[in-house]
Amino acid sequence: MRGVLVSWGNQQQDLDIPSLRVDDGERPKKKDRTTSGGAYMGSQASQAMMSAIPTTTATITTTGHKEVSMSHIQGVKKPFVHANSFTGEKLPKYGVDTHHEEELGKILEDVDKWGIDIYRISELSNRKPLTTVTYTIFMERDLLKTFKIPPKTFVTFMMTLEEHYLKDVPYHNSLHAADVTQSTHVLLNSPALESVFTSLEILAAIFAAAIHDVDHPGLTNQYLINSSSELALMYNDESVLENHHLAVAFKLLQNDDCDIFANLLKKQRQTLRKMVIDMVLATDMSKHMSLLADLKTMVETKKVAGSGVLLLDNYTDRIQVLQNMVHCADLSNPTKPLELYKNWVSSIMEEFFQQGDRERDQGMDISPMCDRHSATIEKSQVGFIDYIVHPLWETWADLVHPDAQDILDTLEHNRDWYQRMIPISPSSSSNDLKEEEYQGDNSQDVPEEELCAAADRIQIQFTLDDEGSGKRAPPDDAQGEDPTM
Ligand SMILES: [Zn+2]
Repeated sequence: MRGVLVSWGNQQQDLDIPSLRVDDGERPKKKDRTTSGGAYMGSQASQAMMSAIPTTTATITTTGHKEVSMSHIQGVKKPFVHANSFTGEKLPKYGVDTHHEEELGKILEDVDKWGIDIYRISELSNRKPLTTVTYTIFMERDLLKTFKIPPKTFVTFMMTLEEHYLKDVPYHNSLHAADVTQSTHVLLNSPALESVFTSLEILAAIFAAAIHDVDHPGLTNQYLINSSSELALMYNDESVLENHHLAVAFKLLQNDDCDIFANLLKKQRQTLRKMVIDMVLATDMSKHMSLLADLKTMVETKKVAGSGVLLLDNYTDRIQVLQNMVHCADLSNPTKPLELYKNWVSSIMEEFFQQGDRERDQGMDISPMCDRHSATIEKSQVGFIDYIVHPLWETWADLVHPDAQDILDTLEHNRDWYQRMIPISPSSSSNDLKEEEYQGDNSQDVPEEELCAAADRIQIQFTLDDEGSGKRAPPDDAQGEDPTM
């Protein structure tokens, strides 16, 4: 995706951008008020963070030193033979070298459970949570045998993939990828979906989850567009990050001993590639509202087989469920045990703040919720849950009813916890976010305005796409200038 908040703070304004527009200048016109920009130039995020490049022309040649050709996928490192290959015969039991194999094995026994402690798995696996979790899932599902993937090739690919998640990015690193992969694995096990998906579709979904944020720079699509980054240039401002994650991942398969799909039939490879692309592109939050609208339609016309499992008899329906599944997994932080959720919130906020610092340094407008001096974290989470996460999960829970009831309960519990943590005026003690709290209190407060603006943007989408939706619709008259327009 786009991290937890990216979504609702920064991405909604993408929704109505025409995909084709004749532009008379070099800089993106739409929604862009900035006069200077940096360019994200590849995997050296921290280095790129420093590169404020006042620009009136698209910057094509500024990657540190050398020219970037358009056919080159930035961020793909030269293979490190020593780091990623296993020369020995024996693979580690859980795919990673660790002195804590027993303890790691113990915790991985819960790999089928919602809310497994992925942070602990990271500690026990030498910070290779993605490799160990994905390896465990593939073993359990017998996917290596089914698709004739040599275990060594699989681990080599996973290590290479994990290496391409940036360690210094606070949220969009391999821990998030491991979390989304494991969450997707659990959702695939939903009884309502039993025997619904083929092995190839299951392979595609887990693979898509594992790669879905690779080489994420910790910056939002909107930032990359506004700063005329190399990536935005490459992908014409459309799902910039998501296209990049896919390109990097498919490129990595070409490394020596990394092609885990080598033994698939050509037709299977083609189908798998299409499904993976469809799923990862659907993690772009600017697609959220239409994805959810389609899911709602599906729920309304839901067909179930005699055994009670979903009946999905065409590609459109099947991929739609898979897209929503990975999207749900991507937006699952608020549905996890509170302690885990709070950890995710601190890391996504730090990532946002680092972008905000960068925007401040470069004289750009600071994106909503990215200003570390004025952010209202708790309120942002409540808004994020109310307008984005809850509507999605509520619909998913309808689709697989009653399989996701516990998840929905945890989400509502967590939402109420963050609601109680909102610093509000002493007179107000309601659990619901009242209009006057949007409008009245702290009216001088800038983040309040930003929240309203974000709510307002989402409201527009609710009105267009989702008329008469759930009880937690944004306030009718939430207004505010859009800080990113
Ligand atoms: Zn993500």
